[in-house]
Amino acid sequence: MAGDVKAMRARFDELLRQAAELAVAMDYADGRIKGVPHYVEIETRAEELGHELSRQVQARHMGEIVARQATRSRCNTCGRPVELEVVKRSVRSVAGTVELVELVGRCPSCRRSFFPLREPTGLDARAVTPTVVLRLVALAAETRSFERAEKAARDGAGLPVSAKLIERLVRDVGEELA
Ligand SMILES: [Zn+2]
Repeated sequence: MAGDVKAMRARFDELLRQAAELAVAMDYADGRIKGVPHYVEIETRAEELGHELSRQVQARHMGEIVARQATRSRCNTCGRPVELEVVKRSVRSVAGTVELVELVGRCPSCRRSFFPLREPTGLDARAVTPTVVLRLVALAAETRSFERAEKAARDGAGLPVSAKLIERLVRDVGEELA
């Protein structure tokens, strides 16, 4: 087992090295980077690539979780067994917008939908990930203003969201804690 993990790690490191090599070669080939770039450009580009990997990892994790779940679940209102469907959803993460899959059960008796993965994963009905919620709420607490939090989120954290959304999240989280 430990040997397997070691081999996987070695393969991962090699693939990552190749991906970095290709990414840099592409940036020169398509003219995105010319001559000697300022280091800000290098780091910005590297961060974007990191975000691309992050989005793939997030999507992959949710895909694995969904694949391992049972295909039926009991309705959490009436207890009737219901077939689960795989549905796609779009969520804003700290690495940009990511397309994820999740499970939904539609109970014909209660005429309502339930999402068995929302509670364990913390990915609730909001269109943002729990990490984004944490960061935005922390920024609002620190800046003591939804407008200043919006600016800090956009300029400092790369999260272009509105002051209105931050305000709503802070109120929701406050109510959940109360
Ligand atoms: Zn039901």
